[in-house]
Amino acid sequence: MNPRELQTAMTAWRREIHARPETAFAEHRTAAFVVDRLEGFARESGTPIEITSGIAGTGVVATIRGDVAQDHPRAIALRADLDALPMDEANDFAHRSQHDGCMHACGHDGHTAMLLGAARSLAGRANFPGVVHLIFQPAEENEGGGRAMIEDGLFERFDVEAVFGLHNWPGLEVGKIAVQSGPVMAAFDNFDVTLIGKGGHAAMPHQSVDPVVLAAQAIQAFQILVSRSDPLDPAVISVTQLSAGDAYNIIPDRVQLKGTVRAFHSATRDRIEAAMRRTLEGLCAAAGASFEFDYGRRYPPTINSERESAFVADAVRDIFGSDALVTNYPPSMGSEDFSFMLEQRPGCYVKLGAGDGPGLHNPRYDFNDEILGAGAAFWVGLVERYFA
Ligand SMILES: [Zn+2]
Ligand SMILES: [Zn+2]
Repeated sequence: MNPRELQTAMTAWRREIHARPETAFAEHRTAAFVVDRLEGFARESGTPIEITSGIAGTGVVATIRGDVAQDHPRAIALRADLDALPMDEANDFAHRSQHDGCMHACGHDGHTAMLLGAARSLAGRANFPGVVHLIFQPAEENEGGGRAMIEDGLFERFDVEAVFGLHNWPGLEVGKIAVQSGPVMAAFDNFDVTLIGKGGHAAMPHQSVDPVVLAAQAIQAFQILVSRSDPLDPAVISVTQLSAGDAYNIIPDRVQLKGTVRAFHSATRDRIEAAMRRTLEGLCAAAGASFEFDYGRRYPPTINSERESAFVADAVRDIFGSDALVTNYPPSMGSEDFSFMLEQRPGCYVKLGAGDGPGLHNPRYDFNDEILGAGAAFWVGLVERYFA
């Protein structure tokens, strides 16, 4: 396939995946579509592609061996994500979601199509002295499919020196790729707090211990934990759910607070968890109340390794010219479960400029097909340069 034919093919695959989105760990049709395309590429190119399905349920790994003579060839992995989000699509173009309550609003349809495009190109010219494992990962959104694949033996079965990931990035100009070493996406934690007071008549507060007032104090105090911390070590505490009583004239027994914490370093998460606990202890002691506190670590921060980031930056300059490379793009407080793979292997996660338009997770978002070619060329160029 020449670049024009590949662009046309990737656009068709992308829209096909977009029209039939599937959420975390339910990507059966999407995974089957990927396998079907990969089998086709092997036939068309005459290059064998080893396909391993069913890793962490719906995960797929495609292995392409280049011109490899040695017994233990060097290997790397490239990763795309398969899943959509549980939300309704507000677009009305022909390829809009046909599944109610499910939408590719994060562009994973495009990530999958670009990695398929790379597979097609790499199979057509397996001239690199190494092995490439293409990871099609389930359940990036919320459910940690990246961790599930690792727990299912991903890197024991496919041992690699380094792993690379990519996300389309609305707001970053088309034609630009942001590459940085260090933290690029935040960690994501959740917390559940129950404040336990003593219920009673709302007209006689002296006979109660009011957990609603306590909740107000706790929410304010949590914000101070961040605003009075090191301003050069970013963190966010957001209380997003609050449930208390259900009558005008009753002080409830208990109030629940739930929310999320984002930060870039493990030590910061530890510090915030400890400070939240201390705050609750102090406030509850003062009020004569008690509490339950559950702090759950969900995704680690996404931290690019120095050597691999430098390699990717050089590769971007080489493939697309130095104007394409952005090295000072601000990190995002969003999170990404590619972080679990980066805990296991060195590597780099880049942001591919997607231009203007509705942002990620917006009901009017659609992956920008204009960047499919650049994404596939990035993957192929990376492989060729890595083993050079
Ligand atoms: Zn997302
Ligand atoms: Zn995403």
